[in-house]
Order: sequence, then C-alpha cells, then structure tokens
Amino acid sequence: MFPIDRPRRLRHHPVLRDLVREASLSVHDLILPLFVRPGKGVRKEIASMPGNFQLSVDCLVEEVAKARDLGIKAFILFGIPATKDATGSSATADDGIVQQALRALRQAHKDVLLITDECFCEYTDHGHCGVLAEYGRRKDVDNDATLPLLGKQCVSHAKAGADMVAPSGMLDGMVGAIRKGLDEAGFSWLPILSYAAKYASAFYGPFRDAAESPPQFGDRTGYQMDPANSDEALREVALDLAEGADIIMVKPAMAYLDIIRRVKDRRRAGGRLQCLRRIRHGQGCGPERLDRRAQGGPGNPHRHQTRRRRHDFDVFCHGCRPLVKMTEKLTIDY
Ligand SMILES: [Zn+2]
Repeated sequence: MFPIDRPRRLRHHPVLRDLVREASLSVHDLILPLFVRPGKGVRKEIASMPGNFQLSVDCLVEEVAKARDLGIKAFILFGIPATKDATGSSATADDGIVQQALRALRQAHKDVLLITDECFCEYTDHGHCGVLAEYGRRKDVDNDATLPLLGKQCVSHAKAGADMVAPSGMLDGMVGAIRKGLDEAGFSWLPILSYAAKYASAFYGPFRDAAESPPQFGDRTGYQMDPANSDEALREVALDLAEGADIIMVKPAMAYLDIIRRVKDRRRAGGRLQCLRRIRHGQGCGPERLDRRAQGGPGNPHRHQTRRRRHDFDVFCHGCRPLVKMTEKLTIDY
C-alpha cells in the first residue's frame, strides 16, 4: 500500500522499463503468408488484397529473400494448383505446387522456417476442405475419409522440406491422424501448428480469393465453429493438445480476443496440473529427477518454467519432451 508500494519506481528508467515489460512484439513474432501458383515470372495481384500477389516459384524465392532482409524468417505457404478435382489429388502429389515451392525455397534459403497450410479447399473443384459425402439430402465433408489424405499431404510436404505443418480444416481427429502419419514416415520431430479453434468468419473472404478456395456451394459451418460458442473452443483446444498439437491457434484473432483469453487462462491452470500429474506418474523423465523437477528452483534445468508475453505462453520442462506447450499467435487477420 502507498507510500511503501510505488509502482512508478519501476517506470523511472527506460532500461528498467524494457526489463520488466510483459508484452513485446517484434519481427520475430511475424509469419508471412505466401501464395504460390504455377508458371514462371508470374506476379498476379490479388484483387481482394491490393499489394499482395500470387507468385510463381521463381518469384517466390525472390520474395522470401526480400522478406528475410527485413528480418522476417517464418513463412506459411498456400498453393494454387494447376488442376483441381473432387478429392484434391494435386495436394498430395510429389510435384504439387507447394512441394515444388518447398524444394526451391529449401535450396535457396537454408535458415528460414517453412510452414505449410494443410487443407484441401485450394485443391478441390468444389472448394470444401476435404472429400464430400451425402448426408441425407445434404452434402458435407466426409471427416474420416479425409483424415488419411491429410496425413499423406503433410508427409509429402515434410519430405519436400516443410519445417512445420498447419492443418486448418477443423476436422475431428485431424491432429492425431497427421501425427500418426508423420511419425510413421520418420518425422516425429516435426511440429504441428493446429488451427484448433477456427470460427466460421467473413474475415476469411479476401484470403479465400487469394488462395482461390471459396466453397462452390454452401459454407463451412459444418466444420468451422459457430461464433456464438466459446466453451466449445476450450474443448477443441483440449482435444488438439491431447492428439499432439505443438502449437494451437485461435482464428480469427482480433475479433476473438476473449477466446484467446479463455484458452490461455484454462491452459495455464490445466497445464500446470497436467505437468504435476505426469510427474507423479513418472512420465516425462527419470524418477530420480522427479523431486528436483517438482521443486522447480532457479537454476534447476528441469524446473517448470513459464514464459509469458502478450502472444506467447508456454509451460514446459527443459530437457524432456514438452509436456504442455501452447503458443498463441496474433496472426494478421486476412
Ligand atoms: Zn480449407
């Protein structure tokens, strides 16, 4: 209580303010979305997003070089294929457009992080996020028939040079299916960034034009979330983490900050509890380390560490497999 408590003491020096700042945003927090299409020397402006372009592979390599000069080192790739069909078969082809882009970028830029969008709406002629089936008189995405294809797409991207895969289709079990596919193909080290709580939203309109992926009939409310639901977001996030998601995303970000807050609060409490439970059950690292880990003193390499920034919250144990990891990125709403 004042006069003993004086919060302004920590504000008097600029370096001290830098030192105690909780939230920071830098170029290291940014991921640049890029759209790749077939051809050579193609820079096709996206009508709904002036100043942004669909690029052929050669132009993409140049664009990444320019972004790197600005300090951006993380990119997420969306493909616009030469042909589309009912199952989106070009998404899993070895010479698919994203696979070509990955190989060229991997060759030209060794140190960048290449993330790939994992979905089928860009590749299907109907524009939905998987193969379709009839449900009564209604057509909708066949969840379980799409899952193995999703696993195949991710493995194909991993082989071509992806550093992280980002499934965006909001299918049940997608993270588990991808994790299984990647592990069986020798990519157990490759992380999954899941669009865990993705709401059906008009914010995606311009982006769908950019990726040439609008649905040709109906909408995506059969798989994306109802904006009126917030409890459901917690369930979706919990399921994806349980299936092996390494990073989860709430999308759109800006209009759903309440959801990010709820997820963050829940995971903070739940994450700690889960860590302690697993320690008690002897999982994560050797029993001789359990006491030291649970004590969590400074300097202990196995202490549970929380790192909090505005967009970033991790609970993990150094030296072991991450027990719970959650990072929220305030991605640009496109
Ligand atoms: Zn999709």
